[in-house]
This record gives sequence, structure tokens and C-alpha cells, in this order.
Amino acid sequence: MEKLEKPLDVWREELSDEQFQICRLGATERPFTGKYNDTRTPGIYHCACCDEPLFDADAKFDSGCGWPSYFQPVSATAIASLDDFSHGMHRIEVRCARCDAHLGHVFPDGPQPTGLRYCINSASLNLKPREA
Ligand SMILES: [Zn+2]
Repeated sequence: MEKLEKPLDVWREELSDEQFQICRLGATERPFTGKYNDTRTPGIYHCACCDEPLFDADAKFDSGCGWPSYFQPVSATAIASLDDFSHGMHRIEVRCARCDAHLGHVFPDGPQPTGLRYCINSASLNLKPREA
């Protein structure tokens, strides 16, 4: 994947405050507040920063955790995983593989077929609904 890199100042201008805090500074939106938490609309969720397709709505499930949750990304190469030792925990952070946007974390308590739960901030995503 070809990387997209921009200076932090440019991202700050292009994104909303909330998107900048979450995608570029690694903040987390409050649970049950994100615009896609309850969304059932078919379509593809793209990166809010670089428009790369990240998650298919078909992989979205109701985890009850308060953030949009998916059992797999659209492809293995769309997402980068990193160890995150912040807040005294060991979690796996997931980022957009193209532009390094912070998306959320992945946990091993999701449904089959993967057993994974990609717990993602709504502000990191842009849903493009599928034509009916
Ligand atoms: Zn991106």
C-alpha cells in the first residue's frame, strides 16, 4: 500500500476538531455517542482522513460496547496493528494502513468467523451507503 503522509498542521486544517483529536492524536470518543454506533445501513466505511476503504457494513455487529464494531476489515492490508501499552493495559491498536489514522483497537472477543472485535471510533470513519 502506498503511504499517504501529511504534516500534522495540514491534518488539523482538513479535519474537524473531533476527527483530528481522534485520528491524529489517538483520542477516543465517548461510548454510545458516535454517529455510526447503531448504524445498520449497507455500504463501505472509509477512512475519514484518506478515504481508503476499511470496513464493510456486512462485517458490522452489535457488540454493545458503545462503538461501531466489526469482525474483520475489508482486507488484511487495509489495517495496521500496533502494540499499545497505554493506560496500564496491553491492547492492540488499529490504524489505517495508508495514512496511519488512529481507528481504535481490536479485541479477541468477537463473533465467528474471526473471533475478533474491531472496536472503532465513528469519527475515524465515513460511511458510503451501497446503492440499493
Ligand atoms: Zn487513512
